[in-house]
Amino acid sequence: MLSDARRLLITNAVVVTMNDGHEVHFDGAVAIEGDRIAAVGTDSDLERRYRDGAQVIDARGGVVMPGLVDLHYHTAIGRGWSDHLPLWDALQEFWYPVVRAIDPEAVYWSALASYAESIRCGVTTVNDMYRHIDALGQAAEEIGIRAVLSNIVADPEHGLDSLEDNAAGHRSRHGSADGRIEVKVGIEWLPLASIGLLKDASDLARDLGTGIHIHLNESVGEVEISKERFGRRPTEVAYECGILGPACVAAHCVWLSDIEIGLMRDTGTQISHNPTSNAKLGNGVARVLDYVRAGINVGLGHDSTEGVNTGDMFQVMKFASLLQRAMHMDADILHAADLLRMATRNGSKALGHEAGELAEGKKADLIVIDLDDPAFTPLVSGNRNQLYSHLAFAAQGRAVRSVIVDGAVVMRDREIVTIDEPEVLRHANDAFLRILERAHIGAVQTLV
Ligand SMILES: [Zn+2]
Repeated sequence: MLSDARRLLITNAVVVTMNDGHEVHFDGAVAIEGDRIAAVGTDSDLERRYRDGAQVIDARGGVVMPGLVDLHYHTAIGRGWSDHLPLWDALQEFWYPVVRAIDPEAVYWSALASYAESIRCGVTTVNDMYRHIDALGQAAEEIGIRAVLSNIVADPEHGLDSLEDNAAGHRSRHGSADGRIEVKVGIEWLPLASIGLLKDASDLARDLGTGIHIHLNESVGEVEISKERFGRRPTEVAYECGILGPACVAAHCVWLSDIEIGLMRDTGTQISHNPTSNAKLGNGVARVLDYVRAGINVGLGHDSTEGVNTGDMFQVMKFASLLQRAMHMDADILHAADLLRMATRNGSKALGHEAGELAEGKKADLIVIDLDDPAFTPLVSGNRNQLYSHLAFAAQGRAVRSVIVDGAVVMRDREIVTIDEPEVLRHANDAFLRILERAHIGAVQTLV
């Protein structure tokens, strides 16, 4: 059960607000009332004003910061299974057979296990494109994470989801858990979508008053398929079909032309940059600096643990910078503050959420991080630059101690309080074996 306390006070904290001025309160506190932040300030002031009747979380010198937003996400049932395969082969040999074979029960346990890993790594919001929205929604509701859900919609011959499935998911789950769960329209990618489907998806999103989640320009192969099928590049086709816009999250965007960058900018489309996935699957390095310079809002995502093995968004933050620095041979790009902004407020903005920043009136989605973790040693007290560097380049998910979503404690002192975690992991393992068998994929692999 989630905590039913209406007032929470987090004390003795270094409060990293992620506001416009990058303000940090080194002797700070955060007060929460209901699902919103009531105040952010000095410890002594907030203790005096909010201690009465509050459930107190003593952060004991830890950092309190906005929860991380995983802007491109797939619940994962498998991992460590097709690690040597490039994207197209990984999809055809493992991922599509598995997601065609899954059922609601397998999705429910896999989603709980996936969300548990994310919560442990400080993620408070996932933008999850997967199948069986009802099962995803049930898992998200129970574990307490903020979830934006969409289907894997493709043309019927591919045996995935239809727009009708997505519309049904919207009817049953959109706005549930006091608005913590939303449903958008998902489109897998252009190799599996016709012009008619793309236009219908755009119409459906408009009719439902919701957004779109789509993979765009992930690989060179995808761009070539789009040129062969449609005579144009993926983002040009998406633009012509009405897919792009401020409510659209376009995942990957590794291979955008200058014209496509202009389309993204002019339509206000949101980009999820997924550098670890792009690197692991051999897809390349996105032109992120050009997107940022063009004024496009860029958030970060891990993609899926089938592809990239870990849901740790601290790793994604670090890779986002390191790949660019290596490619451009320039250490003076994508600084720690840029990465932290991408992983928090940019992601929230991309999803239209009032979160990603610790300020009065924002949604109370925040995390407490241990500073007595070796990754934060040494740390000169009061040094914001060093603290930011530690958070962006040294920290790993293991440093996250507590997680609060929508004003409710989801993880406290590393215990996820909403689920029986060992039971969830046991069921998720069982589900994987069951689905492997159904998908006719052998459970024993040859070492490669
Ligand atoms: Zn993806």
